[in-house]
Amino acid sequence: MSAEIICVGTELLLGDILNTNCQYLALELASLGIPHYYQTVVGDNVSRLRKVIETATQRASILIFTGGLGPTPDDLTTATIAAVFDAKLVENAVIVADIEKKFAQIGRKMSPSNRKQALVPVGAKTLPNPTGTAPGIIWQPQSNLTILTFPGVPSEMRRMWQETAVPFLKSQGWGKNTIYSQMLRFRGIGESALAEKVAYLFESDNPTVAPYAGKGEVRLRISAKAQTEAEAIALIEPVAAQVREIAGADYFGSDEDTLASVVGKLLSEAGQTISVAESCTGGGLGEMITATPGSSNYFLGGIIAYANEVKVNLLKVNTKDLNQKGAVSATVAEQMALGVKQTLSSDWGISITGVAGPGGGTENKPVGLVYIGFATPEGKVESIEHRFGDRRSRDLVRHFSACNALDYLRRRLLRV
Ligand code: ATP
Ligand code: MG
Repeated sequence: MSAEIICVGTELLLGDILNTNCQYLALELASLGIPHYYQTVVGDNVSRLRKVIETATQRASILIFTGGLGPTPDDLTTATIAAVFDAKLVENAVIVADIEKKFAQIGRKMSPSNRKQALVPVGAKTLPNPTGTAPGIIWQPQSNLTILTFPGVPSEMRRMWQETAVPFLKSQGWGKNTIYSQMLRFRGIGESALAEKVAYLFESDNPTVAPYAGKGEVRLRISAKAQTEAEAIALIEPVAAQVREIAGADYFGSDEDTLASVVGKLLSEAGQTISVAESCTGGGLGEMITATPGSSNYFLGGIIAYANEVKVNLLKVNTKDLNQKGAVSATVAEQMALGVKQTLSSDWGISITGVAGPGGGTENKPVGLVYIGFATPEGKVESIEHRFGDRRSRDLVRHFSACNALDYLRRRLLRV
């Protein structure tokens, strides 16, 4: 028994989009312990898709399709699969009603082309799609062959996979072993430095420990194979505890945690609020903070003070200091932080001002120079200087600046 992933879409062949569906499904199959030896990408073309299906049928017993379930003429996955197995397509009234209802909810009428999405091969079951228009199918057209189809839209596919496909596969006796992973996240230590500290753990084969460099963070993935999730977690936890101990304050969270969500939790616990004054990040820090649900409990708002006049008029930055020290300076960063704290009446004021590049650098103020200011609940002001260097892109300088602002705040709130 093995599976094959078949992704349908000419845009995949053209390189217009990255095949993240395939990566997701491959990880999922691995974690279920279902072997798979082939992944195929094929364009929106009936005869080539037909050949792919015929070939896959020879070498795999679970075929997993994504893409081509839409209403347009280039969406031909269901019809081609049915044709290969000489099955008639019939309109499923329940699906038609469901699609009509989904359109009505957004105040629109179903267009005639959507009826196509309700066509199902005789004998196939539907694989419900709670978020999108059309369902997929689960079909066993012959013995020892199971076909699952999903739309191309990644969020729809993932939800359908988790809610229906995985329980179905398990009910068939597939996917008995489970591979469970925990992702540990770090800020303030490089990937190689962390890897050296925990090198002795890389030799273990269950659980396995592997480092990843993320954007603005370093990660370690700990994965364990076991019969149940609880057993896997029991294997992971002692190793995770060792890593957390070794990394100290550079460890900030696990799995879905982000710097912003961790800071948010600490602020909530302390009952404190923050506001931000952003120059070079142009709202990026506020964006990160508000990405966490519930951030309205501690985030009051921000001022994007790009122009000097805004720094002076809204943040009460001193004109003389601005002229003498420049907008990118510790003094101005501190005044911006204090200004936003006072203007918005928050406990903390955080500011960012810097030279994001690629132009605008000088000898004294090179590209990548960033000051982050903090006005604390105790009424103090302080700032930190970062030199990200001119080899970093504008995007990275801005991203790292926001990450460092959050990380500094995290450490202050933890008092480490
Ligand atoms: P729709 O009903 O939206 O037309 P569909 O099932 O017909 O869905 P496609 O038209 O193939 O699916 O793809 C819809 C969108 O999903 C594409 O524009 C693309 O952004 C995304 N997508 C499709 N296939 C993949 C894939 N393999 N990996 C990542 N994204 C994909
Ligand atoms: Mg489509």
